[in-house]
Amino acid sequence: MNKKGKLIVISAPSGCGKDTVVAEMIKRMDGRACRSISMTTRQIRPGEKDGVNYYYVSREDFLKSIKNGDMLEYTVYGSNYYGTPASPVREMLREGKVVFLIIEVEGGENVKKIFPDAVKIFIIPPSFEALEKRLRGRGTDSDDAIKARLSIARAEIVRADEYDYIVENDVLDKAVDDCMAIIRAEELKISSMQNKLSEVINNA
Ligand code: 5GP
Repeated sequence: MNKKGKLIVISAPSGCGKDTVVAEMIKRMDGRACRSISMTTRQIRPGEKDGVNYYYVSREDFLKSIKNGDMLEYTVYGSNYYGTPASPVREMLREGKVVFLIIEVEGGENVKKIFPDAVKIFIIPPSFEALEKRLRGRGTDSDDAIKARLSIARAEIVRADEYDYIVENDVLDKAVDDCMAIIRAEELKISSMQNKLSEVINNA
């Protein structure tokens, strides 16, 4: 049996619904998929939970994790650190799981250097206006923070052509269907099916 998992990088500007898309995929994949929980130095937002959305840590602790080599990748986004703890990801891949990393563009680039087989999906909003409306509607950030997020979003969308796939999130169900189709196709690629193919040939 092929126990090699699949690493899926999901990137999108803040406010594009990437967490919701991933949560829905994990539900549909029924125990076969999970997401990495990042570490961050940013403030917890209302409705978020420590250990569920992120591990919220001090800057000092974050820097310690980097120094100890515990991070698969990390970045500074806005004025905060964000990073992917390495060992849970490696463990989930060993278990043969589909592992989602919900990270920004630079992190995606760094992950691909370590895991060249990682599949990178970029989620775009239907329009820039729609994105601004969503961010303001969320009501969690100050005007300055929204402006900063929008300017980062613009720079990120420009780099979406570095990704393997682009999915528009206008209607949630359709965006989830599209991502599921990508993952299924990736799982059926010859590189992923080699073990199964050998098994069938050897028993012929
Ligand atoms: P937010 O503050 O909106 O939760 O996240 C800000 C950005 O940081 C998002 O684009 C999110 O995907 C990204 N991010 C979250 N965790 C990580 C991580 O572990 N590594 C990297 N490189 N980016 C992350």
